[in-house]
Amino acid sequence: MRLSQLAASIAESPTLKLNEDAQRLREKGEAVIHLGIGEPKNKAPISALLSSASRLSTGDVKYAPTDGIPSLKKAIIRYTEETYGRLVAPENVIVANGAKQALYNLLYSLLNPQDEVIILAPYWVSYPEMIKMVYGVPVVVTPEDGSFHPRLADIEQAVSSATRAIIVNSPNNPSGVVFSEKFLADIVDFCERKGIILILDDIYQRLIFDGRPLVTALKFTNRDVESTNLVVVNGISKLYGMTGFRIGWAVTNRRLVETMTNVQAQTTSCASVILQAAAEGALTGLQSYVESLRLTIENNRNVMMQELSSFSGVKVTKPDGTFYCLPDFRAYNANSVELSHFLLQKALVVTVPGKEFGMEGHLRLSYAGTVKDVTEGVARLKWALDPHAPSEIYIGDRKVVRDWL
Ligand code: PMP
Repeated sequence: MRLSQLAASIAESPTLKLNEDAQRLREKGEAVIHLGIGEPKNKAPISALLSSASRLSTGDVKYAPTDGIPSLKKAIIRYTEETYGRLVAPENVIVANGAKQALYNLLYSLLNPQDEVIILAPYWVSYPEMIKMVYGVPVVVTPEDGSFHPRLADIEQAVSSATRAIIVNSPNNPSGVVFSEKFLADIVDFCERKGIILILDDIYQRLIFDGRPLVTALKFTNRDVESTNLVVVNGISKLYGMTGFRIGWAVTNRRLVETMTNVQAQTTSCASVILQAAAEGALTGLQSYVESLRLTIENNRNVMMQELSSFSGVKVTKPDGTFYCLPDFRAYNANSVELSHFLLQKALVVTVPGKEFGMEGHLRLSYAGTVKDVTEGVARLKWALDPHAPSEIYIGDRKVVRDWL
């Protein structure tokens, strides 16, 4: 069968594929540790469950307005006011099936063929593929100093007459780095001067550590939502650990929301009313839930840093937020895909190759699981790679001996 060249050129999602691989191995009874996953082990907030259950029990489960049910939009407007200090109208908000769909619809609504979108390495795996899917061109900017923090000077050099948008994701997946206020202020100013759309993927905004204040780039524009070049994308996946509920949203000017709504109407009609009710329940319920999730993840981050500190060949930048860190494993193998496969095969630990995020030689390790996942996972990585580590280890109830170092 002949396939569309474009569709056939789109890479599979490496993170979703790894989840499936890990699941298959677990079903076979293998003691897999998943350090690849971007979702915590929490249960969804009770307010979310009650709200969706009560909607379900009415039996009134029909199409919803394409841009979202009014009561959920109201909750998003309140979240936007509390978080960003911005009062927006329902016409400035569109609800989608996850931040992922919101981003896709946004790019679809903004780009003409060959328009360029600047993405900052290390970047989230889906950005380049989504840009290509709407006939745009991803332009990757990599920090030259080997850090994970972008520099405006590098971005300025990458801008051309075809640049339509820049995507900023801070706190950053996969590095965990929170970008400086100076950088955010400068990029907002730069985009507004140049007429470039600035897409703020704020999905991890509350998952920040060490008493850091929540900083949003939106704070650096004086323009209102109708005239600013900034578009905010957000959702419940990371905020409440509600990844499977698939609710996200975008906040932007009315014209763009209208266009995105038309695009969504012709593809998915709307997000499920049951899941929208769950999102509304989460947003309007007890918010101490967010803090307790944050504290759990911060503790896991501390454990991960502690465990990595005695891993002789590994260099790691301490994450300021998110579920992830992106250590440099080049001392062991500069080919991250090869290394990740080796670690899954020998140590039954899932990691994500840095190559997928535009950072070859690194592996993304997640600390979204349990403390035990983190300690045991890193112990297995050490056993597999570090000649100073003991040569025997238990994987599940099997004692295994390293015979390759
Ligand atoms: N942006 C980033 C940076 C992400 O890491 C993710 C999820 N991994 C998303 C967007 C998509 O989130 P959602 O589950 O709401 O589609």
